[in-house]
This record gives sequence, structure tokens and C-alpha cells, in this order.
Amino acid sequence: MMTDLCEEISNSIAGQVWQSVKQFPDRPALELGDRQYTYLQLYRAAASITRAILDLDDPNPFVAVMADKSFTCYAGILGVLMAGKAYLPLNPRFPASRNLFMLEKARIRVVLAGDCSDEELEKVLENYTAEIFIIFPEETGLQENEKFLPKIVSPDDPAYLLFTSGTTGQPKGVAVSNGNVTSYLNNIRQKFDFGTGDRFTQNFDLTFDLSVHDIFLAWSTGACLLVPDDNSSFAMSRFIREKQPTVWFSVPSVVKLMDRMRLLKPGAFPSIRLSFFCGEALMAKTALAWQKAVPQSGIINLYGPTEATIAISSYELPEDSKQWKTELGIVSIGQLFEGNSFILLKENPTDDNGELCLAGPQVVSGYFENEQADRAFFFHDDLNKINFYKTGDIVCADAFGNLFYLGRKDTEVKISGFRVNLKEIENHLEQSDKVSQSVVVFDQSDAGDRILIAFILGEFEDHLEAENKLDEFCRRHLPWYMIPGKFIFVKDIPLNTNGKTDKDALIRNYYHGK
Ligand code: AMP
Repeated sequence: MMTDLCEEISNSIAGQVWQSVKQFPDRPALELGDRQYTYLQLYRAAASITRAILDLDDPNPFVAVMADKSFTCYAGILGVLMAGKAYLPLNPRFPASRNLFMLEKARIRVVLAGDCSDEELEKVLENYTAEIFIIFPEETGLQENEKFLPKIVSPDDPAYLLFTSGTTGQPKGVAVSNGNVTSYLNNIRQKFDFGTGDRFTQNFDLTFDLSVHDIFLAWSTGACLLVPDDNSSFAMSRFIREKQPTVWFSVPSVVKLMDRMRLLKPGAFPSIRLSFFCGEALMAKTALAWQKAVPQSGIINLYGPTEATIAISSYELPEDSKQWKTELGIVSIGQLFEGNSFILLKENPTDDNGELCLAGPQVVSGYFENEQADRAFFFHDDLNKINFYKTGDIVCADAFGNLFYLGRKDTEVKISGFRVNLKEIENHLEQSDKVSQSVVVFDQSDAGDRILIAFILGEFEDHLEAENKLDEFCRRHLPWYMIPGKFIFVKDIPLNTNGKTDKDALIRNYYHGK
């Protein structure tokens, strides 16, 4: 009976954390600035939030969390999961309209408000018409002797809801289940050794699913989570030296920037024993620069879209860089985790490469209430009787089954690891006054600044004034990483011989040429 209960509990994320709390109550679970919190402290704070949530008796499975990275925020996320609910992270750095969009889509009735400014929360909620309850965790006291077990959930119950950039101008919701996440956690723990002595970095925003790896891999192994308070390159390198993480996780862009700032001195970061990268192509050049700074560390390239839960494949780079498997200078994304499978959708059967399609316990069954997107991105394979998700990533495979990322088949790009569909920006711009058409290009040609350029067709008298207005319009609706760095007003949008927008000609005629 007891074994059944333990087994059921470990099928949920909160249950896996609860087991760490039971085994290591006095070990550090979280370090924020100079403050350290033990597993027991974390659990107690989380349990008080759980109780406040359950008291509200809200039937909606989602609870929004609006907080900067603070103790409240981390305890809040755990508290939501312990209540058998799923969390929807809002981002205090997003424009209010974007946060409002997410609240409305998920029909949120309970918001957990942390240490972000009241003003930001007010801006989001002033246009929200549904009834809403706000929990301020500081006001929820816990009874010292409260014994609270995480609620038993089914593997299909959602754990978190995230929104990714979409082509239509509206982000797509992805509800990831407890089963999806525990599959990932079990897979990654099986491949790599983590222990209570480990200290995990927490570099990602909570609206980015890679943060789930940091938080719950650490807490399901009794390790400590280290939260940097500044993400600049200099602060990051100071943070590593002071906090001595053992497990590093970031997008490659972070390391590229540290390299450019000359912070990757030989042997600079001796505490790190495992380095994970994910979110965008890992260039061999970047991996080599990092290896110099952490020669004692294993380096692992993880790959995966939000729809396949954090990461679904991995490639561990051999110590000798001459043996690294690469294609076009990009490190292999390796092989899928056990239990998951892929097929390549090829334009011609003789092609070496194709669109990577994924299936298995880590892959979500569809988008959140979005049948149109489901039809576009998911399909049923009658032969194998499984659902596949079409990633949009073009890959090829070698004879050993190692996969190599070659690029995208659509207008999606990665900007510092953030997924951005250029069509979403174009759609927003075209809703602005006087813009009849826009084409957005991500200029990656320059080794230095990689910027978004918006080519604008429309009737404008004063280009400077129009540029300011467009910039302001974007800032009101789009996250910072989606705001064009340049607006260029054009007289025509050139087409190529297939009748498609000729982006190269746009760049040639209006950007490089003038
Ligand atoms: P996201 O849903 O934000 O995690 O973004 C998923 C997308 O990021 C994937 O479909 C890929 O295009 C890209 N991506 C993630 N990891 C890698 C990687 N290791 N190498 C190349 N691209 C990656």
C-alpha cells in the first residue's frame, strides 16, 4: 500500500521533490543572493501556498505566477504543483498586453503575485474582465506541524503552460503534462549522474521551459539551485567564481558573449563538472571556447522544442575535439532519449535530410485549445499508430543514428535562445497605422550585432517620427527580444522568380546598398 502511494507520488513532479524533502530536509535547496533556503523551508513555504490555492476551490487547472525570480516565486511554483495544478508563468518583463493575452487564453482565476512591482500586476489586471483571486504568499502563514503530501495527479494532468511564438501574430499555448516532465527527468537522470552535492545554475526565464530542467532536476536529486541576479557576461563570470556551480546550463549565446568579452580564460571555472547547452545551434567554435574554461567538465548538447518537453536528444562531446561530430560547424544534437522516436519528412525520398518529426512520452498531444495549429503541426502515423509533432527543424542522420541540425524550414529564428517567428512580428507591425506590408529579417551576417530588421511599406511623411511610433507600438505588444533594432522604409517589396518575397534583394537594395 505504502509502495503504491510512493510510486504514485513519484509520477508527479511535486512528488519527486517531496521525496527530496523527506530525505534531505536540512540540505540547501535554493540560493538567492546571500540567502540560502533548506528543503524544509522551501517545502513549508510551498505548502502554505498550496493551502491558499486549495482554499479557493477553483476548478481551473491553471494558476498564474507573476513574480521576479524570488523565494516566493520558486516556492509558489512548487506550491501550485503540490496542489495538483499547473503553473502559467507570466513575465514581469513582458508588455502587459502579452501577459494579459496568456491570462485570458488560460481563463485564469487565481494569480500568485510575488515580488514584482504592484504597478506591473495592476497594468496586466486592469483590462482583465473575469473574476480573479490574488494570492500574496507573504500573507499565507503555515502551521508549524502541517503535514502536507502533494496531491496525487495523473500523468496526463498538466504541469505548466507556456506560450511560444506563432505565425499568426498570436502565441501558441503548450500545456506540458506531469508525465511528459517526469519522463524527461527520468531520462536525463539515467544518462548523467547528479547528486545532493550538485549546485545547479538557474539562468533561464521561467517563461522558457529550460528553466524546468534547472529547477526540477536539482530538486528531484536533492541538489541546490543557484539563481544569478544579473545576466550580464561579467556578472555571470563573477557568479560562477563566487557560487561555484557544478552543473551549468545555458543557451550557447551566453557563452559566445562571455568569449567575446574575453572571460573564458583557460581553467577559469574549475567548479563546473557538467555543462549543458540547448535552445539553439551549438557551434563547435563556441564549444571549444567553453571547453578551455572548463577542461574538467563534460559538455552536452541537448536539443528539443517546448512541445517535446525541455530536451529530447543529447550528444556528449568527446574530450578530444577532433572526434566531435559536426555538420556545417554545428555540433551534433545526438540521439533521442529512450522511449521516444523520430521520422524525417523528406521532400524527395532520396534526400539526405528532412523535417524532424517526434513522438513518444515526452511529446505533448497537441496545442492548448488550438485545433488549427494541431492540424498544422501534429499528424497521426497510421503505420506505427502514434502521433508525431513536426518540429520545423531540418536535420540529417549519420549511420549511427546521430542527428545533425541543419536549419529551419520556416520563418522561425532563435534570438539568444528565444523562439521567435518573424511572421508574428510582421503581423503586429501590419496592425499599426499606415503600414501596408512589412517584412522582418534577422540579420546574422555580422559577427557582432545580430539584429532584427523590419522593412516597412506604407505612406509615411516623416520617417523618423514613424520609426519612433513603430518602435513604441512594438514595445507595447512584444517581448524585448522581438523588437526590431532597425526600421527601414521601402518603396517596394521585391519578389523572386517564384513570386515569393525576395529577402536577399530587400537587404541588398535597402540595407547594405544604401
Ligand atoms: P523552444 O521551443 O523555445 O525550446 O525552441 C525549440 C527550437 O530551438 C527547436 O525546434 C530548434 O529549432 C531550436 N533548438 C533547440 N535546441 C537546439 C540545438 N541543440 N541545436 C539546434 N537548434 C536547437
